[in-house]
Amino acid sequence: MLVVRAVEDQPSRGIRRGDVFRIYLVDAHHHMGREGSHRNTPPGAYSYYALLWFELRRMAKDQLEKDSLLFEPIRVEPPSLPWKCFSLRDSWERMNNGWLVDRTIVFPYSDDYAKSSDRTTASFRLSNDKIAGWTTHAPNSTRLIGFARVDPTDGKTKSPDAAVNELNRAVNNLGLRGLKLHPLAQLFVDDIQDDITKRVVVRAGELRIPVIFDTRNIRTARKIKALVDDIRSDDSYADALRGMRIILGHSAMSPGDSLLHEIIRDPLIHAETSGLHGQDIPVLFKTAQERVGTTRGSWSEKILFGTDYSFLSMQAAEVILYLLSKSFSGTLADIQRILGGNALSLVQKPFTTDGPSGEAPRQVVFNDEDHRGLETLESLILNLVRNRQWDVASFDFMIPPRGTWPDVRPHPTGGFSGVYDNSYIITLVANKGAREVHIWVRQQSGKTSTCAIVGSRAQHTLDTTELAFQRVDPFLLSTLAEHSVQIESADRIQSVLLRLLEVP
Ligand SMILES: [Zn+2]
Repeated sequence: MLVVRAVEDQPSRGIRRGDVFRIYLVDAHHHMGREGSHRNTPPGAYSYYALLWFELRRMAKDQLEKDSLLFEPIRVEPPSLPWKCFSLRDSWERMNNGWLVDRTIVFPYSDDYAKSSDRTTASFRLSNDKIAGWTTHAPNSTRLIGFARVDPTDGKTKSPDAAVNELNRAVNNLGLRGLKLHPLAQLFVDDIQDDITKRVVVRAGELRIPVIFDTRNIRTARKIKALVDDIRSDDSYADALRGMRIILGHSAMSPGDSLLHEIIRDPLIHAETSGLHGQDIPVLFKTAQERVGTTRGSWSEKILFGTDYSFLSMQAAEVILYLLSKSFSGTLADIQRILGGNALSLVQKPFTTDGPSGEAPRQVVFNDEDHRGLETLESLILNLVRNRQWDVASFDFMIPPRGTWPDVRPHPTGGFSGVYDNSYIITLVANKGAREVHIWVRQQSGKTSTCAIVGSRAQHTLDTTELAFQRVDPFLLSTLAEHSVQIESADRIQSVLLRLLEVP
């Protein structure tokens, strides 16, 4: 998390000079794998963020001298549980750095593993396996979110279903949580409105995962918008539309084009910042504020921060600093949405894979007045991971439902950024057998917390990280209430939970 301090009083926003705020950062565009001279793996990502923080500080110092900053970046803070997870082993501890960025959306390059010569194997199959290998095991699963990549032209060169089947496999078997498409690299710019692309995008909608397209010009963005309109006009795609969310990577490299902003007024379409630098950056945000406005939610819900590492590196610092500068006229809530909230909202479905589900939902309610309960619970879970009984496939903080992101509160009142640091979902996968469960931790009030264990593959399960009761399956909530154990002392949490998480 990025910690910033107000440089001056901002009476209209109730901010005083010296107030300190925390901002949770998500990088929505990051590559791993190998493409020519480009190579990147999880430690490479974290080292890059450490350098980015160094560069951010250096640039901030210059700008402070020119009196152009409204908020000064003062330090980074890791979120507690991921940090503890990285501390479990010496080899993991070496990667316990670069906490400027809390979460990273990771997908393949057009990489050396993407191509397959035989007609039956889909492109990117091996690349997707590698992304899942990096993003769905502890400790990296607490920081990384894996997206798949497919080549829609497989629909022409291999079989009509090749790309769709690979997407199904990547999401349902590997547990990847989004899709990256690159019309230029996979040579389908002219086929974006064609059936081969439509099938893939429709399937992504049915699977409830977001799609990020690489877009280098407004022509490509216009075609994507036409594709979305085409899908929208056909009633048979109603279900796919409910889960459809599109991100225009690089904002079509057209930050000031009124057409870009017209396109992102579409409730399903968003823009991402990587590739923009210099004057592009203020132009993107100012034009969005003017053109996207507040007609359908806030304009700042439509833009996501991304780095495009390792193709790009330090430009990302320019975006962060612009948002902290006096030239940016949005609020801290706008900054938090752009730097992380929007990405979390788009990838809100927790990790899950296909498999048998025999799991009955249960919950324990415990006294947590002095946070001892929560600490006991966390150290128990981490212990199961250290002992290799369970692996962590993902770790997601709960977030406010879309359109309700609150104001960011200063440190003395908890430093709340909108990301709930005391309510989260951990997906645990048993190293023996086939169990896959969501551990759903919620602070109920200052005094009690609950920990629910829910089969991630069950019919009634947690399908969103949005913390709102109307968003949770009512049958699941009532079953949890019926199978609830009240625990008074922190010590008993150990034995009760150990029994529930026993692996034969
Ligand atoms: Zn990229």
